[in-house]
Amino acid sequence: MASLFKQDIQTLKGVGRRRAELFRKLGAPSVGALLRLYPRAYEDLSRPFPVRTAPLGTVCAVRAAVEKAPTETRIRGGMTLYKTRAFDGESTLELTFFNNRYVMNLLHPGEEYLFYGKVTANFLKREMISPEFYPAASCPPVLPVYRQTSGLSSRLIGNAVREALRLLPDPMADPLPPMLRKEQTLSSLDFALKNIHFPDDMESLKSARERLIFEEFLVLQLGLLRIGGRTRARSRFQLQSDRTGEFYRLLPFQPTEAQKRAVRESMADMLGGFPMNRLIQGDVGSGKTAVSAALCHSAIKNGMQAALMAPTEILARQHARTLSALLSPTGIRIGLLTGSLPAAEKRKLRGALADGEIDLLVGTHALISDGVSFKRLGLVVTDEQHRFGVAQRAALAAKGDRPHTLVMSATPIPRTLALIIYGDLDLSILDELPPGRKETKTYAVTPDVRPRVFAFVRRYVRESRQCYIICPMIDESGSDMESVNSYAQRLKSKWLPDCRIGTLHGKMKPKEKEAVMNRFSAGEIDVLVSTTVVEVGVDVPNATVMLIENAERYGLSQLHQLRGRIGRGTCASTCILISAARNEEALARLKILCSTSDGFQIADEDLKLRGPGDFFGDRQHGLPDLKIADMTTNMESLRKAQETAQKIFRADPELSLPEHRGLRAEVRQLFQNWTD
Ligand code: ADP
Ligand code: MG
Repeated sequence: MASLFKQDIQTLKGVGRRRAELFRKLGAPSVGALLRLYPRAYEDLSRPFPVRTAPLGTVCAVRAAVEKAPTETRIRGGMTLYKTRAFDGESTLELTFFNNRYVMNLLHPGEEYLFYGKVTANFLKREMISPEFYPAASCPPVLPVYRQTSGLSSRLIGNAVREALRLLPDPMADPLPPMLRKEQTLSSLDFALKNIHFPDDMESLKSARERLIFEEFLVLQLGLLRIGGRTRARSRFQLQSDRTGEFYRLLPFQPTEAQKRAVRESMADMLGGFPMNRLIQGDVGSGKTAVSAALCHSAIKNGMQAALMAPTEILARQHARTLSALLSPTGIRIGLLTGSLPAAEKRKLRGALADGEIDLLVGTHALISDGVSFKRLGLVVTDEQHRFGVAQRAALAAKGDRPHTLVMSATPIPRTLALIIYGDLDLSILDELPPGRKETKTYAVTPDVRPRVFAFVRRYVRESRQCYIICPMIDESGSDMESVNSYAQRLKSKWLPDCRIGTLHGKMKPKEKEAVMNRFSAGEIDVLVSTTVVEVGVDVPNATVMLIENAERYGLSQLHQLRGRIGRGTCASTCILISAARNEEALARLKILCSTSDGFQIADEDLKLRGPGDFFGDRQHGLPDLKIADMTTNMESLRKAQETAQKIFRADPELSLPEHRGLRAEVRQLFQNWTD
């Protein structure tokens, strides 16, 4: 099988240069990859209906013999109709095809076919329009339906797959060791590949699916375990003293019970003999920063260096500011490293870091770039972890010698997903917001009430409150910048002439963004028109109103994150979702947001409605693409695969035993394009 991944798709019979290109686009550059391109659905032709009793209006198979050669008729608009009739010994089925002259050659009078499509009827006749059809004598019982692109029909893909299946070696190596297959009652890879594409029957299809899903989860888990690199080696950075009490006296507020618990749990890890590996999950505003500050403080007071990585420059700067204010008075030296720092200063910073003259380094993923080295890195914190791939987390930890690691996630990740991505982490949950927060009221409205909404904003601004407006998303043809600027212009000229309006978008330089955020933070801007760059972590307590345009286009979790920018002070906040969407599903989604502020519940709904890919945003979901396994529906299989992965990993972490060689190759295959 491994060698088939090296065999170019173009070597297949029937695949020339042009088609090879299309296959590549579909994600199948090699024969092996094609075999892993599983059908998205199946046509069950095993129980065809007679014409008379075929259910109307639903897709089904009908078996009948063609009575006469198809006729050709040109109609208006350059269309050509092909018509014929089929008979099953009892009733007649009329058949019509559009623009498909191949039917002239493919349908032979007197021969029996399976027609697959929708039957419609009036009192004169029963009819099928453009059905799929297959000669009854040679038709497989279940046919695969592939995701097609223009130029590559499902049938063409099926033919190529059939050719590819012929190339499978016999006997064929199976990455799942025989013992494991027996224990989990899983079919062989050979059987599974053949039956996932061309099942003998529905039962075989089921067992093929089970096997492939299990395998994919297993490989994913093994890969994550290896990257996570959880070892049982003792820590070099065992804390000698817990300085939490001292830290709490620095805070301008009382920590919540949840914060105290999270700090206690993490501290116990660091005081114990092994490296900490902990995830802190807490809804927006639950005060994760203070928790991480407590840990950094203790680590540093125990003579170590600490690093905190944030996903955006704005956020990194904000953290640096907060932590400086809190920790500098105790003599802790803080550095900020971001991509936009001038080269000379970067060099200086790196030198100071390597010499141990900086205790706490805050920054973006510039932290994991080459040339950044620490003297005694004992604690690594990653904020907004879901924004980073698992590999990035590992890369930062690799800057030290098995340092303690803490990851913080603001988007409550559905438990099911957390299990997968953080399967090797201990978990602390911040399930309590700091006191005095008023709940944010959320409303979903249609665009025609916009004038009233702006009047509302104006009133608030007059009371010295501030407002975010998340600008309409536009398609690729336009730019965020244009969208933000023209929206701001319209506000200024028409709706909010007496307000100070600022803009923020992705095209701006980090310094410019920073300047705008600072002005907003200082109250010099009343209304900030922005793209979703404000999404993550930004903290301006006086901002109490948020308007989100085109709300239907965002995932629920993302909306929840955005909404988390307000309601951070002691005043009641209002979030208004503007959407012109009329379809039920979109409206139902927005309603969920209006009815709850529980991030976990929202995340679960999001997962159900949109799937895990969307949940993590487009690019950075941090997991390789799965071909067949579905984390939301194949939970049982996932659980079993995870158990198995842990067992294998404990016994053979490098997968170097002969029976694990196949699995190792698969892990490499799945993770090959996946390093960032
Ligand atoms: P998040 O968990 O979203 O990262 P932050 O750490 O940014 O939340 O905290 C949100 C706000 O709440 C900040 O302004 C912070 O100073 C404040 N805060 C954190 N903990 C407490 C607390 N125990 N009491 C009062 N305010 C708090
Ligand atoms: Mg935060």
